[in-house]
Amino acid sequence: MKVPLTVADFLRRGALVYGDRTAFVDEPGTAGSLGAITYRSVERRARGVAIALDQMGVGAGERVAVVSPNASRFGILFYGVSGYGRVLVPVNYRLKAEEVSYIVEHSGASVLLVDPESDEALKEVRARHRIVLDGVADQELFAEAPDDAHPAGWEPDEDATASINYTSGTTARPKGVQLTHRNCWLNATTFGWHTTVTDRDVYLHTLPMFHCNGWGMPYAVTAMGVPQVVARKIEGEELLRRVDTHGVTLMCGAPAVVAAILDAASVRRAAGQDIPGRDRVRIVVAGAPPPSRTIERVESELGWEFIQIYGLTETAPLLTVNRRPAEWDDLPALERARLQSRAGAPAVGVQVATDEEGEILARSNNVFAGYWEQPEESSKVLVDGWFHTGDKGYLEPDSYLVISDRKKDVIISGGENVSSVEVEDCLFQHPAVAEAAVIGVPDARWGETVKALVVVRAGHEITQAELIEFCRSKLAHYKCPTSVEFRDSLARTATGKLQKFKLRAPYWEGYERGVN
Ligand code: AMP
Repeated sequence: MKVPLTVADFLRRGALVYGDRTAFVDEPGTAGSLGAITYRSVERRARGVAIALDQMGVGAGERVAVVSPNASRFGILFYGVSGYGRVLVPVNYRLKAEEVSYIVEHSGASVLLVDPESDEALKEVRARHRIVLDGVADQELFAEAPDDAHPAGWEPDEDATASINYTSGTTARPKGVQLTHRNCWLNATTFGWHTTVTDRDVYLHTLPMFHCNGWGMPYAVTAMGVPQVVARKIEGEELLRRVDTHGVTLMCGAPAVVAAILDAASVRRAAGQDIPGRDRVRIVVAGAPPPSRTIERVESELGWEFIQIYGLTETAPLLTVNRRPAEWDDLPALERARLQSRAGAPAVGVQVATDEEGEILARSNNVFAGYWEQPEESSKVLVDGWFHTGDKGYLEPDSYLVISDRKKDVIISGGENVSSVEVEDCLFQHPAVAEAAVIGVPDARWGETVKALVVVRAGHEITQAELIEFCRSKLAHYKCPTSVEFRDSLARTATGKLQKFKLRAPYWEGYERGVN
């Protein structure tokens, strides 16, 4: 027997087995907050979304875009949209109107759902249906459907696209990563297995739901009836309070989230206050290589378990996992942290290799179906049955992967990808810019931060502050340079290509790896 694997399975089980349990505790005090709702209510609301989409004439395969920070409504859309055969397009809510417009148009979304805080800024962004998630305009969309109301049938297909997640990469425009139901299903179940998600967990949504569908963890915890606490913002002390109030056991995030929590914990310790969650919380970290010192502090100062994973949106994302095996228990803390600072060993079902240039290749059922309407870009990364990650690294003798550098010209700041080409394109729009190179440089808070090296056009004058402000008016702020250096010329090859590695080198001196 072969039963199609679809993301609907996760909520079906959560609601069937844990119907009376709290599914979501929404962010309090925001427009459209749903408060605390049960798994039964989530199932009824997800079905309600599907029925509403039927009534709006939005059929199977059509795209539904959502621009929102973490919210219970977002959590419902994973099932109400994808679970009934439409395609969810989660969009980074930090993007500017023009950037969101591109994604909405490129994906051909017929529905655009917008968080009330983004409504004004995105007023020009249109779709056939545009609904603000303020608890009023979307009231019908998220109403509980009666038990005997059923959406129009969708023939479940595990190879259908469940979501298109736009990600910045090597091209000036983001690309739409098509994740199939099968990709999402296998990622969620293997991820849940490696992190031992059980029905006794309490999950805190510190990772943005838009980022690779919250890496797929929302699916895994839903299937186990795990109460999910929504965090809309990353504010260290508030996260600690929620860990305490709700008995949180599990969360995911980029190293910047860990840094915010460690800072808040230091303040608490100095004031003689307790740090909640000792010997209870597991924190799963990815997006950049965390420093060993951070790992050591998570274990010694918080008493939480540190788990690292590595992957990309294109791989749904789980490729490798680093979770302390029993063999490391008795090692000195520093040595243990060093071992754990590696990206990890291949997850079940994943094969990892490196090519002669040191690029990391992967093969797994988690690997995506291709970029939305960009077959030529897909064929650049999917070659002979292997996915080319654009990351560089090596496998140590114990099969743990170390990420040492990046082949692709991408900067990762605070866990979000920034395309250097996109920022360079933006700088070139300024009349005073003759040449520009955008590079990532190490940063204590964000891992890496964006630096622009600029040659000013003869006869023009411009300051660092003016150029940064120019970019901030056009691009999401996390993509903008935090510093600009003016140069007389930029290092180029004989063919005129920028030599980024040479430009980067002085800023990375003394660093073991070329990524941070
Ligand atoms: P994204 O598709 O936005 O999730 O970004 C994926 C990229 O993040 C990868 O190609 C890596 O460059 C980086 N990345 C993810 N996890 C890790 C990790 N554990 N260590 C180092 N880099 C990572």
